[in-house]
Amino acid sequence: MLAITLSADWEPREGARLTSNELAGHFAGDARQVWRNPHFQLGQRPLPRIDAPGDVIVKVHRAGIARSNCKMGDSDAEGYVLLPYRMRLPLIPGHEIAGEIVEKGTAVRHLQVGDPVAIQALQPCGSCRACLQGKPNQCLETGFSGFTSDGGMAQYFVTSARFVHSLLPVAERFGFDRAMDVGAVCEPAAMAYVGLFRQAGGFLPGATIAIFGCGPIGLSCVSLARCAGAAKIVAFDRTQNRLRHALALGADMAVNVRDAADQENGVSEALLEFSGGMGIDLVIEATGDAWNLFPQFEKALAIGAKVVSLGVERKPMPISLFPYQETGAWLTGTMGHIGGFEPLIALHASERMDLSTIIDARFDLANGLQALQVASRFDEAKVVLLPHAEPASIGDAQAI
Ligand SMILES: [Zn+2]
Repeated sequence: MLAITLSADWEPREGARLTSNELAGHFAGDARQVWRNPHFQLGQRPLPRIDAPGDVIVKVHRAGIARSNCKMGDSDAEGYVLLPYRMRLPLIPGHEIAGEIVEKGTAVRHLQVGDPVAIQALQPCGSCRACLQGKPNQCLETGFSGFTSDGGMAQYFVTSARFVHSLLPVAERFGFDRAMDVGAVCEPAAMAYVGLFRQAGGFLPGATIAIFGCGPIGLSCVSLARCAGAAKIVAFDRTQNRLRHALALGADMAVNVRDAADQENGVSEALLEFSGGMGIDLVIEATGDAWNLFPQFEKALAIGAKVVSLGVERKPMPISLFPYQETGAWLTGTMGHIGGFEPLIALHASERMDLSTIIDARFDLANGLQALQVASRFDEAKVVLLPHAEPASIGDAQAI
């Protein structure tokens, strides 16, 4: 089958502390410590097989390209991977996967061949301290499709049925293609859901919400905040296309942060003005640029505000605690998406939201490397691969 593969050289940094498991399995708990010269290739790979009675094989119809996929191939001046994730290489990347079941193991009861499904990429171990406390998003030994095992940038994908969510309710109402588009954005949207509602505990109807970063996670937050009864939503980003999406999904105001940041205190002043001087009830940080943004929005927190961190931090940040003592605000975040798929699929099936609209560009798999380059510009909200589309059916690699 056709697939994209990420490879790199196993060259632990001098002084890197690796466990015996990491050394034995060429598996890195922190990719930055060992993987050098990462590079993507397009080529043929063996078809996946069912290894356990609970497995299913999915014909992949959509594979979203995430920011982290672009970053997996990036390296520092010494050639080491920049992404601080668990990573076993070589593998097929891709953790935003939608498709249809084409084969299932003998123990799979709740899914049928032909079912449209979205894939939960996190594979919690079920037995560690976090899992036993009912916190699978914090699993200490989690597998992660596309990072520790093959992911979805391929024509077929195998996983346990435990990590598969049916998109039948969306397909029955809106058709198979819409279900696939929704499935492609479920992963980032599920993470937004977990951060906003399960970790932060949500907000009361009538709240004022600020969202920094209008990639798929930030845009999902805009739509979820609108669904959940926010009175006012302001979204910040650096690209007009993403800000346009934010407005379409329900933001009341969209601010180009380049403009606002041009003036000292520009962001905090914009927030205070937007909230009528009351401050922001819930802030979502989905840019990874916390270093610059926290000092700005912390001047505009409402009493009892919540701050939810969903971005990939680019560098560690010293934090000023005074705003949290002064306002009683609290800070939380997540990297997990478990617990977000079912409500998102339900919200789409009931037409309360439609995040399929954030897909700006579609590529066939033969043009997958070009798609990764386009996604790396971060102008598009979401770029997806269609691994079974004929190139002619969607034209040359194109932005829609
Ligand atoms: Zn666990």
